[in-house]
Amino acid sequence: MIIIDGSEGEGGGQVVRNACALSLVTGTPFRISNVRGKRSKPGLMRQHVTAVEAACAIGGAECDGLAVGSSDLAFRPGTVVPGEYRFAVGTAGSTGLVLQTILMPLILADAPSRLVLEGGTHNMMAPPFDFIARTFLPVINRMGPRVEARLTRHGFYPRGGGRIEVDIMPAPLRPIECVERGALLSRSALAMFAGLPFEVADREIVTAKTLLDWPEEAFAVRQLPEEQGPGNILLLEAAYEHVTEIVSGFGQLGVSAEQVAKRAAARMSGYEASDAFAGPYLADQLLLPFALAGGGAFTTVKPSQHSLTAADIIARFLGRQCVFEQSASGTHRVDIR
Ligand code: AMP
Repeated sequence: MIIIDGSEGEGGGQVVRNACALSLVTGTPFRISNVRGKRSKPGLMRQHVTAVEAACAIGGAECDGLAVGSSDLAFRPGTVVPGEYRFAVGTAGSTGLVLQTILMPLILADAPSRLVLEGGTHNMMAPPFDFIARTFLPVINRMGPRVEARLTRHGFYPRGGGRIEVDIMPAPLRPIECVERGALLSRSALAMFAGLPFEVADREIVTAKTLLDWPEEAFAVRQLPEEQGPGNILLLEAAYEHVTEIVSGFGQLGVSAEQVAKRAAARMSGYEASDAFAGPYLADQLLLPFALAGGGAFTTVKPSQHSLTAADIIARFLGRQCVFEQSASGTHRVDIR
């Protein structure tokens, strides 16, 4: 049994999700105390409970302490059974984070799976659907498996009600090197909104245009059906030969549209100015598949606390090291050994 202090490092939900995934793959049970100990509302929230329930359902696992508010969780894995599953986060909790919990065990299973995940598809502090589909999964598919994700309905905080479908064709993960992003192919800035005034999205685009030196045709506004809102997200996307980076700005009560666009544009400019393959979010999400592949390397921007914590949890379950080294250009190279 691996014992984890959930308040160490990043101290968030990713510790729980990565531990569940690693436990299902290795067959090693774990216990976490101080779950999400560094968050303002510590303990399991609805979306974490759904994620762990999903892990139990696909992996025949048993849990103690699985309830909203719980700060102590014990998880004993069983056998992963691929197949058709539907999981609904009862709130606007992130479907992407449920996927993060169960994807690797299902990728390494011996038959295909189909998932229907309902809840939020574009949530703050979680990978939006577009990031999963166009940033994360293309790298996973290069490692051997075939994973396809479709969005059938958008879901924003607080209403949720979104839906994604994921088809998983399993395969062993093979180590790959992702050190170069390649030539720039295209860029786009899309402000999506539902059930809010057009003006919100328009102001984001006007601000983004002044901050990003991108061609006029790169900027667009998309109105979603009223009943999928209220919600708003600005997606800044830069597609290179070998990787696509998506930076998101989430519309939020009390934060102006200009501020949302300004923060997102600053983050995209930082990524474009570097020559790293992975932005900060892709980096922490790649550590688990790379470690399960048994090796590989990628370049990234300055490692986030999420990345360092993921590396710690991986070392506990797999005994593999993720070694971060800064190069002269400022880019960091991550080698999984
Ligand atoms: P935690 O904060 O521990 O619940 O983990 C959040 C997870 O969501 C991490 O794996 C992050 O990489 C990911 N994430 C958060 N925000 C974004 C974003 N804007 N785009 C992509 N991934 C994100």
